[in-house]
Amino acid sequence: MKYFDTIVVGGGMIGASIAYGLSRSGQKVAMFDEGDNAIRAARGNFGLIWVQGKGANSPAYAAWTRQSAKQWPNFNKELSELTGIDLAFEQNGGFDFCLNEVEFKQRQALMEKIHSDSQGDFNFEMLSHDNLKQLLPNIGPTVAGASFSKLDGHVNPLYLLKALHKAFKQLGGELITKPVTDINYKNKVFQVNAEMDEFTSAKVVLAAGFFNKTLAPKVGLSVPVYPQRGEILVTEKVKPLLDHPTGLVRQTREGGLMLGDSHEDVGFDEGTNIREIQQIAKQTITIFPNLKNVKMVRAWGSLRILTKDGLPIYDHSDSCPGAYAFSSHSGVTLAATHALDVASYIAKDGLLPSSLACFSARRFDV
Ligand SMILES: Cc1cc2nc3c(=O)[nH]c(=O)nc-3n(C[C@H](O)[C@H](O)[C@H](O)COP(=O)(O)OP(=O)(O)OC[C@H]3O[C@@H](n4cnc5c(N)ncnc54)[C@H](O)[C@@H]3O)c2cc1C
Repeated sequence: MKYFDTIVVGGGMIGASIAYGLSRSGQKVAMFDEGDNAIRAARGNFGLIWVQGKGANSPAYAAWTRQSAKQWPNFNKELSELTGIDLAFEQNGGFDFCLNEVEFKQRQALMEKIHSDSQGDFNFEMLSHDNLKQLLPNIGPTVAGASFSKLDGHVNPLYLLKALHKAFKQLGGELITKPVTDINYKNKVFQVNAEMDEFTSAKVVLAAGFFNKTLAPKVGLSVPVYPQRGEILVTEKVKPLLDHPTGLVRQTREGGLMLGDSHEDVGFDEGTNIREIQQIAKQTITIFPNLKNVKMVRAWGSLRILTKDGLPIYDHSDSCPGAYAFSSHSGVTLAATHALDVASYIAKDGLLPSSLACFSARRFDV
């Protein structure tokens, strides 16, 4: 029976970030992941490192998001130097469009609240149509304006995932492509079953996306998450026309445009819906009429892993010390802090900081 310091269940965006960070801290780590048919938000996302607008009702979440975004430049450097993979990371600020005056006023109020809660740590600009047009000359006549935050950026999420897996293995981590089916805690040791094999460890991190909901009760935790589908469209490659990512459109390093962002309640259906595709395309053309004749080449649906209040879950178990469960619908944005901070808390003394206590799933018990 193989023994590890920590077993990470799930090799998606959160699991891979934490597993890499644990290996970086010198731990002997195994990361379990499912096969090709797994439901994986990590393989279907938009690739934004996004701060603006997040945490309006939770200053702690807004601060956590900023902490990660600020670490991204060094994190990117470290990962790309270690693996030789260029993550196509850019962080020169992002725009979020307001399609009418009501949206503009609402956005301004939201951003002002986040700015004031942050005591000046979060800064933004509101750009009227005319000001925005000077920066993005191709915006359509009906766009009311946009908010802008310097901390926003983007990355190729598939290269990020690939780099995390590669770096993890380079540092001695073991990737085991078998689904974990059971976990037992006895005499301060976790027994983890994957298919017919059994593994043991001192600590277990649950980062299995939706499957956290099933595994968490086995270690005295609860992860109430539900799916929400988002669809993304990709266009043919076009010449560079957008220097900054935006909440709805971004241009990849290769030239293709990625368009989003829908929110659909369709259970675990990862398909696409022609009406949503039309809606996303229509919205894009309202913002950038010059894209009218650009051809769409691909579309996919992927499931966000959401909690009722939209905030992440960072939890540790009282009944099975050494067990953790993590869930967040901003796994790309938070990858830096997951790898650099959360992993070192676990590796050091196993304690999560008090600043994360408000993200325990116990908040749903009341
Ligand atoms: C349409 C869309 C757009 C998004 N855009 C962004 C964005 O722009 N920026 C951003 O920050 N975030 C974005 N996200 C969210 C981001 O993708 C998720 O936050 C992130 O992928 C969640 O990571 P995770 O590790 O919890 O889940 P996943 O990435 O889904 O990984 C879970 C992993 O667990 C594995 N697993 C499941 N069960 C088991 C088991 N029993 N044993 C072993 N392994 C198991 C699966 O194989 C999978 O690899 C987006 C998501 C969607 C759907």
